[in-house]
Amino acid sequence: MHRHDAIVVGGGPAGLSAALYLARYCRDTLVIDDGRSRALAIPRSHNVPGFAAGIAGPDLIDQMRAHAGRYGARLTKAHIVAAARDGDDFVLAADNGGEFRGRTLVLATGLATDPMDLAPDVLRAAITAGTLRYCPICDGYEHRGKRIAVIGALADAAGEALFLRTFSNDVTLVSIGDGPVPAAEAAALLERGVALVHGSLLALEPGTQGIGVRIGDDAPLWFDVLYPVEVTQPRSALARDLGVGLGEKGKLPADAMFGAGVDGLFGAGDIVEGLDQISVAMGHGAIAATRAHNWLRERDGQVMPADIG
Ligand SMILES: Cc1cc2nc3c(=O)[nH]c(=O)nc-3n(C[C@H](O)[C@H](O)[C@H](O)COP(=O)(O)OP(=O)(O)OC[C@H]3O[C@@H](n4cnc5c(N)ncnc54)[C@H](O)[C@@H]3O)c2cc1C
Repeated sequence: MHRHDAIVVGGGPAGLSAALYLARYCRDTLVIDDGRSRALAIPRSHNVPGFAAGIAGPDLIDQMRAHAGRYGARLTKAHIVAAARDGDDFVLAADNGGEFRGRTLVLATGLATDPMDLAPDVLRAAITAGTLRYCPICDGYEHRGKRIAVIGALADAAGEALFLRTFSNDVTLVSIGDGPVPAAEAAALLERGVALVHGSLLALEPGTQGIGVRIGDDAPLWFDVLYPVEVTQPRSALARDLGVGLGEKGKLPADAMFGAGVDGLFGAGDIVEGLDQISVAMGHGAIAATRAHNWLRERDGQVMPADIG
């Protein structure tokens, strides 16, 4: 089995940045990806530095793939189901029967997202119309002064609703799923300018007035934009298999790009505790790749004792 200098699992912004750097350090680099980058769901991002006119997520990923490929990084489509050590090497098994061996491993596997429990065609239509959004940090700016609703369980949704008050005086929290909102919390939100609605969400109704949110038997409430609180799960099973100590929420520790606590293993991107953003993922990728390269140099006796790592 071919032994790569570095294997990167995950072909999103983190993994592709790591691959670019590793390839430019003249490392034999393989990216293994199963094609579910969260960046692919971005209609147009306006906060990726360098793209003043914005860039669609799929275009960014295409360009990053081509960029890493230009310097020799190889990309293969596969879903890795198991990771183990064999001596000093990492050995990975894919669901299509493929096996891969690498001296270092960068895990950039990102997060999985649970979609809202509503008709998929309605959700798709609202995303296309730009009325359903998932990332206030990314696109709150685009909704300055608009009628904004945040929808989700109170514990998760309250912080997001308050965050969006930076951009609009018309923010409503649609609290679903976890009993009536305690009076003290409702009063605290109202005091901070967030209106509150509670009930079971029955339907979304995209229309000319924006997006309608139907709760119980009442007439729909209309908003310009709706932010469902995203429920995400870190894709950290491979890290766990390899003995990485995961944080409370199942993510890799915040400094995992410097080394994830397992020799030769580095983490990057959303899978690492911190801010889930493209620019952060890219920075993690650069650090993880440089650390992996220097780790290999050290192993191969290419570092003077006082060398800077
Ligand atoms: C709707 C939406 C809008 C967003 N808008 C913005 C924005 O405007 N600006 C911004 O900065 N951020 C935005 N984000 C967040 C941004 O997409 C993420 O922060 C970014 O994609 C993280 O990069 P990553 O490489 O860590 O993870 P990802 O991009 O999710 O990539 C992880 C990759 O690993 C692969 N993978 C996982 N497990 C395996 C496995 N076992 N085997 C093989 N492959 C595997 C996945 O398929 C995926 O391709 C948005 C997110 C969403 C959902």
